Amino acid sequence: MRTLHEPAREIPIVTEADVVVCGGGPGGVSAAIAAARHGAKTLLIERHGYLGGLATAGLVAPVLGHTASESHIPIVEGLLREITERLNAIDGAPSWEDSLLEWGIRFDAEALKYVLDQMCAEAGVQVLFHTQIADVFTADDRIEAVIIENKSGRQAVAGRIFVDGTGDADIAFRAGAPTTHGREWDGRGESMGSFFHLGGVPEVSAERMREITELIEHEMEDGRFAFYNSGFMGKNTHHRDHTSANMTRFAGDSARNADLTRGEAYVREQVWELVRLLRAHVPEMADIYVQQTSPQIGPRESRQIVGPYALTGDDIHQGARFDDAIARGSWWIDIHCPLGHTYPVHLCTVECPRGVNCPYWVAEHDHMRSKAELYPPKGGWYDIPYRALLSIRIANLLASGRCISATHEGMAGARVMGTCIAIGQAAGTAAALAVAADVSLQELDVQQLRRVLREDGQYV
Ligand SMILES: Cc1cc2nc3c(=O)[nH]c(=O)nc-3n(C[C@H](O)[C@H](O)[C@H](O)COP(=O)(O)OP(=O)(O)OC[C@H]3O[C@@H](n4cnc5c(N)ncnc54)[C@H](O)[C@@H]3O)c2cc1C
Repeated sequence: MRTLHEPAREIPIVTEADVVVCGGGPGGVSAAIAAARHGAKTLLIERHGYLGGLATAGLVAPVLGHTASESHIPIVEGLLREITERLNAIDGAPSWEDSLLEWGIRFDAEALKYVLDQMCAEAGVQVLFHTQIADVFTADDRIEAVIIENKSGRQAVAGRIFVDGTGDADIAFRAGAPTTHGREWDGRGESMGSFFHLGGVPEVSAERMREITELIEHEMEDGRFAFYNSGFMGKNTHHRDHTSANMTRFAGDSARNADLTRGEAYVREQVWELVRLLRAHVPEMADIYVQQTSPQIGPRESRQIVGPYALTGDDIHQGARFDDAIARGSWWIDIHCPLGHTYPVHLCTVECPRGVNCPYWVAEHDHMRSKAELYPPKGGWYDIPYRALLSIRIANLLASGRCISATHEGMAGARVMGTCIAIGQAAGTAAALAVAADVSLQELDVQQLRRVLREDGQYV
């Protein structure tokens, strides 16, 4: 490979903060708000021009993980409840009480962008939009600064504690901290996917809907569509003038730019093929249109940090409890086929219809879970331990959101947005408490952290 030699250049340190939060998704923005509310000078760095991560940039909805397994009892409140109530006040989500009755919190992504801007501003979080974290500067197994790139050039941001909310553990990885990637067998993570919104979709009778669904399934069976389900009428968002479908699937590594690039074009092509089919063969759908595809393809899984503890599939299924619990999760081991197979393939379980045609199934079927072994106990939850947020190498780093320390199975449950927001609230609070007490993240009094989280409305 040809290389360029760049002579050493001085990089200006533009800001110094107590807590530098990297990435403004559910895990990052909640960390930033919590840290700032607890008195830390907090900077939040986000590459998009708005906050919310996949909740806005991926059009992902609804927020899952807010209630105990198969129940209406809340297990996450705190910032999640506040966000929901603020959304509800501007007609961007149902009320909190109504949300508890549903499987997830439906919301409007534009309203969420606005609410998160307001919450950050009120808390005193300094936000840097349109800023890519390009590198990390370390000394003695501590992060000294992150190197950022934006329209103002290449700069450095120094801090005392760094929260990795990039989803892909970019900060841990670039700092040289150990990370894992996908399942142990072949390093593959769950497949990516994109939501899309269709407009001009009329209501049709249940019988007619069955016929349309059969038409789409026929195309999927024949391999003309690579969707994993036929739910183009999905109603996952708060507003009813469009559908919100979660059908696309692309097997790729979100930590590889080539895969991200191919994935974007691939899912857009699928969406337009679907619209063509519906317009041509379903007279009622002649006027449907693509209202929007998600601004970025959605990664479900890439890198996890390696912490003193990794959340496992058994923890989920058994409803594990930990003395250092800082959040609760209830979503199940929801593994979207890492090889990207589509309808009738959905989840990676021992009942997968590909069976002997799947190399993973052939090698691992003795160890694979059945569908019955995916869920936490009914009415229960599993704890997320503080140790899963720590890095075994980098002393001043916390992970938040979907890149915490977890196995492939463990992260398949903990990755949903309600859980990521609860983890984020804990990460930001922990960072601020450590700064205030002038102790390391490893020395932090976790029972005090839990008390503060409870005072702030969280269940721990
Ligand atoms: C197709 C799909 C369907 C899903 N369905 C659901 C669902 O129905 N309900 C649910 O609750 N969850 C769902 N999820 C999971 C959920 O959306 C994610 O796991 C969750 O958003 C993770 O939050 P996060 O903050 O850890 O990461 P992200 O949401 O990915 O946010 C990371 C943020 O960091 C920023 N960032 C990343 N790298 C950098 C960098 N180097 N510099 C600057 N900024 C950076 C990104 O722009 C982004 O804003 C789904 C995910 C996918 C992909």
